[in-house]
Amino acid sequence: MTRSHYRFVAMTVDMDPSQPPPLTRAVCRTCGDRSPEADPTYDLDAQCAQAQRWCSAHTARDHPGGRHFDYTATITWHWTVTPEEDIGPSA
Ligand SMILES: [Zn+2]
Repeated sequence: MTRSHYRFVAMTVDMDPSQPPPLTRAVCRTCGDRSPEADPTYDLDAQCAQAQRWCSAHTARDHPGGRHFDYTATITWHWTVTPEEDIGPSA
């Protein structure tokens, strides 16, 4: 039997600068249609407003006689975890 030594290392979680910026989309829970990809230059509030405008248009314009009232919004964030001290080579 081998013994292992563990230690606690503080870590921070933050945006991964090597990945695309956050992206907001909405999906109609009735038919599965998806809003267009948000403009990545918009901040999150503007992206949410853009997705909500699509939801309203999808309900009123695309399915005026239907009942497409329910949506799921997702925001994709790309995060990275950074140890605050050297944790050695990967196992
Ligand atoms: Zn729909």
